[in-house]
Amino acid sequence: MNARSSVLDRAKSALQDDFLRGAVHFTTDRLRNRKQAVTEDFGHWEAWRDRGEAIRRHTIEHLDFYLGQFADNLERLGAHVHFCADASEALAAVTDIVRAKAAKRVVKSKSMVTEEIHLNHHLEELGVQVVETDLGEYIVQLAGETPSHIIIPAIHKTREQIKALFEADGGQNLTTETRDLVAFARRRLREMYLTADIGITGCNFAIAETGSMALFTNEGNADLVANLPKTHIVFMGMERILPTLADLEVFAHLLPKSATGQNTITYLSLITGPRRAGDGDGPEEMHVIILDNGRSRQLGDPDFQAVLHCIRCGACLNVCPVYRQIGGHAYGSVYPGPIGAVLSPLLEGGEAYQDLPYASSLCGACYEACPVKIPLHDMLVKERQRYVAKTGGKTGEKAAFATYRVAFSDHRRYLSAIRVARRLQGGFAKDGVIRAKIGPLAGWTDRRDFPALGQQTFREWWMARKRGTRRG
Ligand code: SF4
Repeated sequence: MNARSSVLDRAKSALQDDFLRGAVHFTTDRLRNRKQAVTEDFGHWEAWRDRGEAIRRHTIEHLDFYLGQFADNLERLGAHVHFCADASEALAAVTDIVRAKAAKRVVKSKSMVTEEIHLNHHLEELGVQVVETDLGEYIVQLAGETPSHIIIPAIHKTREQIKALFEADGGQNLTTETRDLVAFARRRLREMYLTADIGITGCNFAIAETGSMALFTNEGNADLVANLPKTHIVFMGMERILPTLADLEVFAHLLPKSATGQNTITYLSLITGPRRAGDGDGPEEMHVIILDNGRSRQLGDPDFQAVLHCIRCGACLNVCPVYRQIGGHAYGSVYPGPIGAVLSPLLEGGEAYQDLPYASSLCGACYEACPVKIPLHDMLVKERQRYVAKTGGKTGEKAAFATYRVAFSDHRRYLSAIRVARRLQGGFAKDGVIRAKIGPLAGWTDRRDFPALGQQTFREWWMARKRGTRRG
C-alpha cells in the first residue's frame, strides 16, 4: 500500500499477517526484556535518563552555537560541510559529489536521514549502483522494501524469504542456516566495499568540540564503508550534535542499552576528518551533509522542540501496543512507531501523515521507555489538537462531543441521558456487551468489549438502598 493510504487501511492489512505479528512480538519482547535486564544490572537508570535528557535539552537550546563549532572544527580538519535546508538541496549536494568523482558504485551503512530524502532512488536515477551493507538493510533493499523498524530493518522477514532473496542476488543455492546466510552476505558485501567509489554513512552523534562523528554498529560495516572508498559522505540530521566527548560517554550507555539491551555497542567508531598525511588508511575526501528538512521549525516551539532530543534508539517502538500489533510499514512513513507518529507530521509540515497521531492508545509506555524522556504521548495529543484547530474537526465528532458535554455537565441531564441510552441499547446489547454493527462505534466494538449499561446505575442502587434502609 502506498504512503498516502490511511493508517487505518494499512493497519487492517497488517493485522491479517500472522507471521508479521508473531515476528514483531517475538523480537520486540526480546529487545524489551534484554533492555530491562541490562538496565537493572547497570543501576541508577533513572539518573542516567535524567542526565541524557539534560544534555540533549542543553544542546538543542544552543544548537546554533554547537553546529557552528562542529562545522568550524570539521573544516579545519579538511572536511567539506554542506548545510542543506531540505531534501532537494541535500540531493543536489550529493549529485555534485557523485558527478565530480564519476562514481559508479556507492556502499552505504545504515542512515535514517538518507531514507528520509529517498537517497537510494535518487542515486539509482543518476546511474549509480547503491549497496546497503547493514545486513538488515541489505535484505530490505534486495526485497525492494523500506525498513520496518529503526534498529531491526528486516524484522518482518522469514529465513526462507531471506534465503530466496540472497539466492536471486548471488545466483547460487543456499540453506536457511544463519551461518550460511551470513557467510553469503559477508562475501558479497566485501566485493562491494573493495570496488566502491564512495562510502556513505549516517552519524549517531557529532561532537562539537572536536569535529568528530560517532558511529555505532554491531557489524563493523560502517568502518569499512567510511574507510575503504576514497570519498566518504556523512549524512546527519542537524540535531545529532553533542557538545563534548564526555557527553558521548553518557550516550554510549543510553543508546545500546535502550536499543538492543546490549551493555555496550560492538563497534563504536570516532571519525575525525579525512585521512591526514602519514595515516595508514581513511578516505582522501570527506563531505558532511547536515540536513534541516523541517527540524528547525520545531526550534522554539514549546510543544515540540523536545522531539529533537531523540537519539533514534527505537525503544519506544518495542513497548508500543500499537506498533507491536501492526509493525512499521503500516505507519507509511520513514519513521515508524510512536516517534514516527510524532515526528513524521512535524517534518512534513503539510497534510501528509496527519492521521498518524491518532494511531496511539496514549498509554505513555513510550515515555517510560525513552532514554531521554521525550513526552511523546503529550505531543500526540497536542498534534491532534492542532489538527482539529486547523481543520475544524469532523462534523459528526463535534456533534457527539457537544452532546456529551451537555449531558455530562449536569447531573439531572446525566441521569436522563442514562435512561435514554439504556432504552436505546436494547437492540445492540447481548450477554452484557454492546456490538454496534454500523456507525462510528462499530470500529470500537469490533475489537473491544463495550459493556452494556446495567439495569441500575450505582447511584440508583444507592438511592434505593437508602430508601430501603430508612423504611427498615
Ligand atoms: S523517542 Fe525516545 S525511545 Fe523513541 S527512538 Fe527517540 S530516543 Fe528512542
